[in-house]
Amino acid sequence: MSAVQNITILGATGSIGASTLEVIGRHPDRFRVVALAAHRRADELAELCRRFRPDYACLVDVSRISQLRERLAAYGVPARVVGGEAGLLEVASLPDVDCVVAAIVGAAGLSATLAAARTGKKLLLANKEALVSAGPVFMETVRASGAMLLPIDSEHNAIFQCLPPFASGGLAARGIRRILLTGSGGPFRARPRAELHRVTPDEACAHPNWVMGRKISVDSATMMNKALEIVEAHWLFGANPQQIQVVVHPQSVVHSMVEYADGSVIAQLGHPDMRTPIAQALAFPERIEAGVSSLDLFRIRTLTFEQPDFERFPALRLGYEALQNGGSAPAILNAANEVAVAAFLDRRLPFLRITAVIEETLASVPASALASLEDVLAADALARIRACQIVTSLNSNAA
Ligand code: NAD
Ligand code: MG
Repeated sequence: MSAVQNITILGATGSIGASTLEVIGRHPDRFRVVALAAHRRADELAELCRRFRPDYACLVDVSRISQLRERLAAYGVPARVVGGEAGLLEVASLPDVDCVVAAIVGAAGLSATLAAARTGKKLLLANKEALVSAGPVFMETVRASGAMLLPIDSEHNAIFQCLPPFASGGLAARGIRRILLTGSGGPFRARPRAELHRVTPDEACAHPNWVMGRKISVDSATMMNKALEIVEAHWLFGANPQQIQVVVHPQSVVHSMVEYADGSVIAQLGHPDMRTPIAQALAFPERIEAGVSSLDLFRIRTLTFEQPDFERFPALRLGYEALQNGGSAPAILNAANEVAVAAFLDRRLPFLRITAVIEETLASVPASALASLEDVLAADALARIRACQIVTSLNSNAA
């Protein structure tokens, strides 16, 4: 068996962080946690440090660092405490780490995820917003450093598993016709649009199949999550927009498929449980126990597939368009979405206005070329300012 892998988790207190630590906890002979990073939940981070004994604990919100130190001292955990963005960048690029799990939510994770890519090690990507915003810069960083980029977003991990193992080049050169990107359709898949005006954050976050953080749960409800995943699939697999077909699959058992030139379609199936893709990527190319039970096909019996509804879920169209327009358009799409989702979760924006804010932001912030991280951050900042103005103007119009 391979040597012990030293692991850093960025976003350790989140839903992906928890699933990752569950898999790691099953294999103390394979994995050692070197660093855990979180935003502001000092007590939860301290508790994780008590269980996993990392060398570093990083809290981005420096106002809670003393609370973290006190807890760690009480638990007798000797971890070195670092804080702020500087601390996050430090733990993202530690020299003795073999693998970084990028599980921060949103473009807030961009600089740290890129810093991890720059080290040339193994990078497990959950933080799709980083790749969506910084696509060309991100992929050039990975190429230049020689990092091994493994997707743990369930669909992209499924596609990765269905790809031919020993081929290179574009999709067509690898004998691939298209990628079938599945999505459950979210909690409002079957609801008429007229009923969506008054939905609450809790209703939008009640996903039928997956338990996830609140931001990605709202993204699933608007289907912006699928839009971001279209862009993600483009960068990860070299698929152009015409080669990516979204397939609504309410059971979330088929996690995506690859269709070949000869008519073969290869699918990856499993319970909707993030421990499966995380374990696949952590142990790659080996396979390990993830704590996930066998798929009982006799109980499931029926798998169904539907066309995506572009009328009720305009976010899908925005995703394809942003990819087609290129440059900073996906960064603008992502930033506007983050602003709109935060406003919705804060009850400052009705559900159906989320996509309207994004569309208006895209229409009023011109897309430009992306050559560096600074370009991405500038586009992201500009889009946030514009999206905030649009949210405010919608509110004053409604008042
Ligand atoms: P979450 O809200 O549960 O957790 C987010 C984590 O990011 C937390 O640990 C938080 O401390 C950290 N964080 C938030 N803001 C930060 C900041 N400014 N600086 C540093 N850390 C910060 O989110 P999640 O559901 O675990 O999702 C994480 C990422 O994984 C997202 O990009 C999401 O799209 C992706 N993803 C999640 C799932 C899932 O099942 N949850 C599936 C596929 C992809
Ligand atoms: Mg996904």
